[in-house]
Amino acid sequence: MSFVTRFAPSPTGYLHLGHAYSALTAFDAARAADGRLLLRIEDIDQRRARPEFEAAIFEDLAWLGLEWETNVRRQSEHMAAYEAVLQGLIERGLVYRCFRTRKEAAEAIASAPHGASDDVFRGEALPPDEEAERLARNEAFAWRLSLKKARAALGPAYFALMFEDETGPVRAEPDKHGDVVLARKDFPTSYHLASVWDDALQGVTHVIRGEDLREAAHLHVLLQKLLHLPTPRYQHHRLILGPDGKRLAKRDHAATLRGLREAGRSPEDVRSLLANAA
Ligand code: GLU
Repeated sequence: MSFVTRFAPSPTGYLHLGHAYSALTAFDAARAADGRLLLRIEDIDQRRARPEFEAAIFEDLAWLGLEWETNVRRQSEHMAAYEAVLQGLIERGLVYRCFRTRKEAAEAIASAPHGASDDVFRGEALPPDEEAERLARNEAFAWRLSLKKARAALGPAYFALMFEDETGPVRAEPDKHGDVVLARKDFPTSYHLASVWDDALQGVTHVIRGEDLREAAHLHVLLQKLLHLPTPRYQHHRLILGPDGKRLAKRDHAATLRGLREAGRSPEDVRSLLANAA
């Protein structure tokens, strides 16, 4: 069986031990399976992405001893492709314009009459005249995936969505995400849409990423079904925590690969730090 996995960092800071763990886990898995490791630069957020962080990604990964294929995909170069995917969803009525601000959406969730576990946003398109009025006023909006429309489009298949991860087969529950924002007025994609699209386009068979994205798989499987894309196998790995027991952040310089290298640590030291990290 072919094995294609990827490491998909965002160039918004220097890579830290958590990224190293993710990258090494993917690299080692590809090696063990005689498979391929791809690198994808997830830089759709151009307000936060910086060329020097991208350059540092290449440098730090090479220092760690990783090898990846040279056809690196940089998401910011493919916005037109994501826009076309979004357009397809618009034409199929699977997304709707939501004019609520984040604060208003949170308030709508808080005041909704469903149970506490149900704290997600669900909505629908505004009546056409109201929508036209708001568009004429040039109001900002988000494109949200309509779970209601997705259910109608897929029928019983909606309730039979499955994926496999390291725990075995999992029944996907997209409802736990509510109507997720897939794009915004002047911005044709979110992380979810671009990531799902690219994984399929790049022929990724195994998505290996941190525990923090475990829940995202439930939404990604639905997007794959709606977009007629294959569902890869997922593997979620533990997160590397700092000495304070908290998740590492890109601003903790001591935990960045750069910081460790400056402190005289070797790539082997990084591997053993990771093996011993809580
Ligand atoms: N760009 C994401 C991150 O930096 C990775 C998401 C993924 O692996 O799907 O966390």
